[in-house]
Parts: sequence; C-alpha cells; structure tokens
Amino acid sequence: MSEAKSLPGARKVVIAIDGPAGSGKSTLAALLARKYNYINIETGAMYRALALKAMQSGASLDDGEKLAMLAQQSRIELAPNREGNRVLLDGADVSERLRSQDVTDAASRVSVHPRVREWMVAQQRAMGTNGGIVMEGRDIGTKVFPEAEVKIFLDAAPEIRGTRRFMQSPATEAPEASVLAELQARDQRDRTRANSPLVPAADAVMIDSTYLTLDQVVARAIALIDARLAQSQTTGV
Ligand code: C5P
Repeated sequence: MSEAKSLPGARKVVIAIDGPAGSGKSTLAALLARKYNYINIETGAMYRALALKAMQSGASLDDGEKLAMLAQQSRIELAPNREGNRVLLDGADVSERLRSQDVTDAASRVSVHPRVREWMVAQQRAMGTNGGIVMEGRDIGTKVFPEAEVKIFLDAAPEIRGTRRFMQSPATEAPEASVLAELQARDQRDRTRANSPLVPAADAVMIDSTYLTLDQVVARAIALIDARLAQSQTTGV
C-alpha cells in the first residue's frame, strides 16, 4: 500500500472506527494510520490495561468508583507502531498480557461503569485534539468524537468474527466454540450497557465485512476518507 498521500497542508482530521469485537477494527485502523501518516489509537487497550491493574490490585470489577480512582492513579500509555499499539501500564509493557482471555473478560466488565468511561473519554479526547488520528473502539463516533470528520462502523456476522478471533488467538487458548461464546457475551454486554452502548453513530458509514476481503474493506474506507478530505480541502470544514 502506498504511504501518506494527503496533500501538503491538508487538514488532519479524526477518523473514528467503531464496531464489535472481531470485526477487524484494529487491522483497519493500523493500515489507515500508516497510509495517512496518522496516529493509531486502540481505545480497547486502555480498558484492558485498567482491567489488568484491577486484577493485580484485587479491586472489585463491580466497583465503579474504586475503578475510576484506580484509573486516575495509573499511568496507561499507548505507543503506536506499525502493527497497532504497545501498551505500558505504570511503565511496564503489558501488551501481550492484555490479549489473554481473563483480561478480555475483565475489560468488558470495567467498561460498563460511567465513572470509568468518563475518565477514559477525557483521556481519549485529549489525545485527539489536534486531529491526525485514527481512533478505534465502541463509542468513538458517538461519544469521544461526535464531531469526527470520518466515522466508520465496521461489522461482520458473529460466526465470522468468532472464527477470525480464534485464528488470532494463541494455540493454547480456548476452542473455537468457546471463543465464539465469549465474543457473543461481550457483544451483548457492550450493546446493552446503559452508558455509551455500542451503537453506530447516526452519521457513521456502515461497512459489513462478512463477505469482503481485507483489501476490499480498506479500499472502501480509503474512498470514504479521501472524499471527506477533498471536501474538507474545498470547504474548510
Ligand atoms: O477493542 P477491545 O476488544 O480491545 O476492547 C476490550 C473491551 O473494552 C470491549 O469488550 C469493550 O467492553 C471495552 N471498550 C469500550 N469502549 C471502547 C473500547 C473498548 O467499552 N471505546
């Protein structure tokens, strides 16, 4: 893929990508960030890092106030690279640990608490104030950057997402059926929580990747972004 093709002086926008687990958000976000020379931010990694911290410190995953305090006392840093984000928790690289099943489940549980989300959203907004970011998660287009110039909601049939997740997981992890069951339970929690549930923003462009190759998904996203950048170039908004 060719590298950054934005015109010199082109305004750097916010590209928001939301969608359920296993829809391919992280892969798409990393490729788009590389193409436009933007910073890629995986917000799920921040919820995962807080979940790990809670597990390490014995904090209850049901105590929103305590978790929000824990978040304030933690140093969660994302270091974007070509493949995605390395994650530092209080200075230690926990990137691999964050992918394990227990942390994944705990992240979904800590993310339901309004006070935790408030803290996360504030951090995420601060990271994107100057634009030039591809941010992916569940509430980026609805809550973190409702004014984002580009909003994509990436989806795929649950079975396809489950299979993709299974293929990515380490060989020692759970069998395919339980990966799918976990993913569906997490989806259900994300879609039905009272605070910032996973829903497409009204002005998001939907991409269903069930029958699309990665190249096709990327091509659609690029067409959308280029159109928006060209419009922004002409109108200044
Ligand atoms: O994207 P990822 O699978 O790493 O996210 C882990 C969990 O963090 C999700 O299941 C979801 O519950 C939560 N999350 C969220 N809002 C975001 C990103 C992730 O609630 N913006």
